[in-house]
Amino acid sequence: MIRYGELSTKGKNRWQFINKLRRNVQEALSIYPQITTYFDRDRGHVYLNGADYQAVAESLKKVFGIQNFAPSYKIDKSVPALKEAVQLIMKNIYQDGMTFKIAARRSDHSFELDSRDLNQTLGDAVFDVIPTVRVQMKKPDIALRVEIRTDAAYISHEEIRGAGGLPVGTAGKGMLMLSGGIDSPVAGYLALKRGVDIEAVHFASPPYTSPGSLKKAQDLTRKLTAFGGNITFIEVPFTEIQEEIKNKTPEAYLMTLTRRFMMRITDRIREVRNALIIINGESLGQVASQTLESMQAINAVTHTPVIRPVVTMDKLEIIDIAEKIDTFEISIQPFEDCCTIFAPDRPKTNPKIKNVEQYEARLDVEGLVERAVAGIMLTTITPKEEVLDQVDSLIEDLL
Ligand code: ATP
Ligand code: MG
Repeated sequence: MIRYGELSTKGKNRWQFINKLRRNVQEALSIYPQITTYFDRDRGHVYLNGADYQAVAESLKKVFGIQNFAPSYKIDKSVPALKEAVQLIMKNIYQDGMTFKIAARRSDHSFELDSRDLNQTLGDAVFDVIPTVRVQMKKPDIALRVEIRTDAAYISHEEIRGAGGLPVGTAGKGMLMLSGGIDSPVAGYLALKRGVDIEAVHFASPPYTSPGSLKKAQDLTRKLTAFGGNITFIEVPFTEIQEEIKNKTPEAYLMTLTRRFMMRITDRIREVRNALIIINGESLGQVASQTLESMQAINAVTHTPVIRPVVTMDKLEIIDIAEKIDTFEISIQPFEDCCTIFAPDRPKTNPKIKNVEQYEARLDVEGLVERAVAGIMLTTITPKEEVLDQVDSLIEDLL
C-alpha cells in the first residue's frame, strides 16, 4: 500500500499527479506481468499476485512521489477473518519479550466495529494465541495497522520509506546538460526528484573525444532511467565549434565562449523538443567557469530558466549522492570530456561581456549553432541494456 508524498497539497491537480504516479509505478514494475494496480484518492495499491516482494520493494523505493509504502495483507472485511489474520501474522513475527499494539482505523463507517472496538477485539485475539505478549502504546516493537476500507481490510506491520519528491513528468520537461562528470548526473537525478522529465544533451568532439567517453555519458543516462524510465539521449557534434574557438579567439576566453555555445545549442534543442528549462551540474566556485561572473556571461545567451540543482553543494555532498544513485563509479572512469581537451591553463574567472561579444564577432555564431543542431543524434536509453553491455565487454576482452 503506497502513501503519496507531497501530492496531497496539490489541490485540483491531484488526480493528474496520482495518474502520473500510477503510470510511473506500472512502468517501474512492468517486468512483472502478474502485478495489478489500483490507485485511489488517498492510496495506491499494488497487488503482487505472487511477484517477489523484495524485488518489487527495491524498484518502488526509486519511484518519486511515494512518501512510504507498507507491505500489506488484504483481508475479508469480517471480524472472524480479521481475528484469524492478526493471529497468524503475530505468530509469524513475534519473538520473546516483544511488545505490540493494534492501531485500527475505519474509513468505512458502516463496518460493524469502530476503531476502539477493533483495537480491543483484535488485541484480545492476539492474547488468545500469545498470552505472554505485552501491550505498549508508545513505540511498540510491533505495530499492527488495521485499516477498514470500502473494498476490504488491510493489515500491515512495516513501513518502508519511499523516495519522496514528485512523480516524474508532473513538472514538465527539461534538458539536462550531461557531461561525463560527477555533477551533472546528480543534477539530473535531483531534477527528476522534483518531477521534471529530462532529456540528456551531450556534447561530443570526435576525434578529440573517444567513443568511450560517449558511452560513459550514455551509461550515466542509463543509471538515471532507474528513477524516471526511458530517457532520450541527444548527442551534439561539437568538434567544429571547438576548433573555431581554439583557432580564432584568445585562450583565456575559450572556456566562456565554449560554454556560451553549449548553452545556445541546448536552448535551441530545448525549443524543438518542447522542454521548459535547462538543467546543468554547475556548482558555485568549483572551477573557473563556475564563478558568478562566468555564470552571468554564459547565461546571458538565453532567457530560458537554467536550473542548477547542485549549485550550493560541496563536492563531497555531491559525491555522496553520486554514490547513492550509483553513478560515481562510472563518472570517475578516465575519459576525456570535450571541455578538458582544449582547456587553457588560465581560464578567465571574470570574463567581460564586452570582450566576449568582440571575440564572438570573429565567428559565424549562427551558422555554427545551426550546423550543430542539424547534426544531433537521438537515442532512447532504456533501463535494461546490461546484456548488451556484457556482450560489448566480452568482445573487448576477446580483442
Ligand atoms: P560535471 O561533473 O557535471 O562534468 P564539472 O564540475 O566537471 O561538472 P564543468 O566540466 O565545468 O563542471 O561543467 C559544468 C556543467 O556544464 C556540467 O555540469 C554540465 O551540465 C555541462 N557540461 C560540461 N561538459 C558537457 C558536455 N560535454 N556535454 C553536456 N554538458 C556538459
Ligand atoms: Mg565536467
